[in-house]
Amino acid sequence: MDLKSLVRDIPDFPKPGILFRDITTLLRDPEGLRYTIDFLAQKCNEAGITADYIIGIESRGFIFGSPLAYKLETGFIPVRKKGKLPGAVHSIEYELEYGTDCLEVHQDGLHQGSRILIVDDLIATGGTASATAKLVQKIGCELVGFGFIIELRDLEGRKSLPDVPIISLIEY
Ligand code: IMP
Repeated sequence: MDLKSLVRDIPDFPKPGILFRDITTLLRDPEGLRYTIDFLAQKCNEAGITADYIIGIESRGFIFGSPLAYKLETGFIPVRKKGKLPGAVHSIEYELEYGTDCLEVHQDGLHQGSRILIVDDLIATGGTASATAKLVQKIGCELVGFGFIIELRDLEGRKSLPDVPIISLIEY
């Protein structure tokens, strides 16, 4: 299936000069959505990834991470922006183009030695996924891979990630 044709390009969003890859058109397509999750699961299996938990990064990582967890028979753990999770959290700050941001995960969500697969809709510079990886590793979990629907190759985000399998389904 031509997944790329289901992704919509929106110029100048969220600011002038940015070409936003919009996955809502893929999500709304019943066959496209099913194929995306099945294909991601298949690639994870082919890469030999066995995880205890999938971590989805807020917010589009939740959309793809949850059905993937169901399919791979793992648990799902959300990593959220600062102040959104109700329980005690582990946090990590990371650099943005302008300023910093912070990601959090519940302290009782992750344990030393848990095998973690990190999922998001898209990798651009790799800053978000790399910060999530650091958070997971700081806790003492074993990072076993990354799964993305879209990879913007020119930005070379995968270079900022640890040396584990990195799966992406659509490349630009
Ligand atoms: P990075 O940290 O530069 O790799 O950016 C990745 C994060 O920004 C992910 O959480 C994406 O959801 C979001 N993002 C960046 N560009 C796009 C885009 O074109 N479409 C959808 N999400 C994007």
